[in-house]
Amino acid sequence: MHWFDNNATTKMCPAALAAWKSAESEFWQNPGSPSRASARAFAFLAQQREIIAGLVGVSAEQIIFTSGATEANNAVIRFEAERNPRSRALVSCIEHPAVIEPARHIWGPRLTWIPVDSRGCADMDFLRNELKKGDVAFVSLMAANNETGVLQPWSEAASLAAKYGARFHSDATQWLGKISPNGLAAADYFVGCAHKFGGAKGVGFLAVRGGNDAFVGQLGGGQENGRRSGTENISGIAAMAAALENRSRTLSENAARLARRAAFCKVLARAVPGVEIVGGNAPVLWNTVFAVMPEFENLRWVSALDRRGFCVSTGAACCVDNSLPSHVILAQGYSVAQARRGLRISWSWETSEADLRALAGALSATFAELSRGR
Ligand code: PLP
Repeated sequence: MHWFDNNATTKMCPAALAAWKSAESEFWQNPGSPSRASARAFAFLAQQREIIAGLVGVSAEQIIFTSGATEANNAVIRFEAERNPRSRALVSCIEHPAVIEPARHIWGPRLTWIPVDSRGCADMDFLRNELKKGDVAFVSLMAANNETGVLQPWSEAASLAAKYGARFHSDATQWLGKISPNGLAAADYFVGCAHKFGGAKGVGFLAVRGGNDAFVGQLGGGQENGRRSGTENISGIAAMAAALENRSRTLSENAARLARRAAFCKVLARAVPGVEIVGGNAPVLWNTVFAVMPEFENLRWVSALDRRGFCVSTGAACCVDNSLPSHVILAQGYSVAQARRGLRISWSWETSEADLRALAGALSATFAELSRGR
């Protein structure tokens, strides 16, 4: 099986799996219990927090462990809406549903969507103009889009939000582990999610800017310094630290990885004449290609490729209904028909050039197969 749906989830890397197993057998106690064994587990947790904080450029007190990106995004959006009951929020229209849905439900009529240009980059002139109008308390722009891989101007958005006194949140789920985190510490909040970079599912973190002491994401037993109640997933956190450490060590290979992506796009264009790669010349993640196929609905491509042993996606795996056209592609000006022909191909740190050539071959053979059965 060839897994080309790594933006949905990626296999745990060996270092993370080893860390998970070791923590699960050595530090299985509840870190909040009063025993000495629990104190050791608590100290181990503190160590993992230091590692993760160091890797993303913040201090340990800023890291709050969560069950993943969805929880962290929801918590921030709810907290800021409650803290600013009469102010407005500006949220990009290409966010993952883990931001779109809470923003829509919680901010409601106080929410304005930030549009994107035809390459899929959030419109900074629009953001500036909206901020100038006043009354904006909260801005949210993801770091890298999960469907197209297009990198967003989050650094500029963070500066603009700060200039106009709004808090800035960035869902960095698809960025962390793949690209250097330098600069993310400028955000008031940013979010990471372990299973997107080789850790376990069901664990992630929220980095909250120093000084924002009022933030509380979840009430209960008072874990995470009272900011996110719920017993910590120690082994998942250990695996997350190991995975992030492992991925961070290879960031210097990114130029070669981007060159490999460009080569794949060329091979794809020959394999499936008429295919269109979304994002054009925008800056992109090295592992993601969103392609509008020249013919046939994406679910037919997905099934036919699956029969050949290649797993690709129609877009975000977290949307329950995979047959809906991608809101990200529609926001870039593509038609519903084009969006329905969209395929997301996302590979991992371990994917080789040979794997990518094999996928191009399978796409070419699938195109021929679907054309025959037309
Ligand atoms: N945000 C982005 C950008 C994502 O890609 C995903 C997962 O696809 C999520 C949030 C949600 O992650 P999780 O379901 O692990 O909470």
